[in-house]
Amino acid sequence: MDSFLPIAYFQNQFLPFTDAKISIATHALHYGTGVLGGLRGIPDPQNADRILLFRLDRHCQRLSQSASFLHCDLPSSKIQQIIIDFVQKNQPTKSFYIRPFIYTSSLGIAPRLHNVETDFFVYGLELSDYLPKEGVNCRISSWYRQEDRSLPLRGKISGAYITSALAKTEAVQSGFDEAIMMNSQGKVSEASGMNIFVARNGKLVTPGFEQDILEGITRDSVITIARDLGIEITERPVDKSELLIADEIFLCGTAAKITPINRVENYQLPQNRPITEKILDKLTGIIENRDSKYKDWVFPINLN
Ligand code: PMP
Repeated sequence: MDSFLPIAYFQNQFLPFTDAKISIATHALHYGTGVLGGLRGIPDPQNADRILLFRLDRHCQRLSQSASFLHCDLPSSKIQQIIIDFVQKNQPTKSFYIRPFIYTSSLGIAPRLHNVETDFFVYGLELSDYLPKEGVNCRISSWYRQEDRSLPLRGKISGAYITSALAKTEAVQSGFDEAIMMNSQGKVSEASGMNIFVARNGKLVTPGFEQDILEGITRDSVITIARDLGIEITERPVDKSELLIADEIFLCGTAAKITPINRVENYQLPQNRPITEKILDKLTGIIENRDSKYKDWVFPINLN
């Protein structure tokens, strides 16, 4: 059972998490018409009275853009202030995950985005490792990532997660930990809730936006970090066969951080992972606010 933070934001107010409840007739529940965010917070290792949020502004911006696909105008600055208040009210003491969510909240049927109310809630839960640090075994999914002509892939749309859920469960039920989805063109896209990077001959490649990926904020951070570390990185279509001869592959996301892949289908990857480790080290230092060059990526919130 997840350990939820005690206070939620719901229907324009802060209240106990257990009191934040919706009706079974809620529109978004039936039609997947919600958009979500996902941020990580940690207690500041240098100051017990402070929480650090990683790339708060980017997360709020992406959520506000996602909301626009629901025809909902929720400025990034407003989302940001509610998240800051949410953290201060909850006083977290461990690493946690924040889930902001905007959804069509009217009661009743008929899929549409006009003549329907929207609401915004935020809740949080304690979260340490989402995937095992030692690495995961991945299956190539029989489910394909959606295309932008069917739904807005620049948004984090709740209904889209049926594909991730199908792919993840298929992978787990066939003895793997995680799924890698191809796009409709047969190129590598991403995992169920993570972007993917492949290292070969000392260089990194990662699928670009044309491969129907989510605009991952960790992915964006990894690209910047890799360049900073002098590692050549290219965003381009990646073939399935490249996964089967890679030197290193890792997944990245807010929940998963950097998770190495041990095996793709039957291909066992080498155990030494110099590039993955360098990037993980650097990212960890940045998230913990030990890297002065990247101070702008860390948003401190004082609890007192
Ligand atoms: N792809 C999908 C489908 C996701 O759900 C996530 C998690 N938000 C990611 C990639 C990684 O994105 P981020 O680094 O912004 O968490």
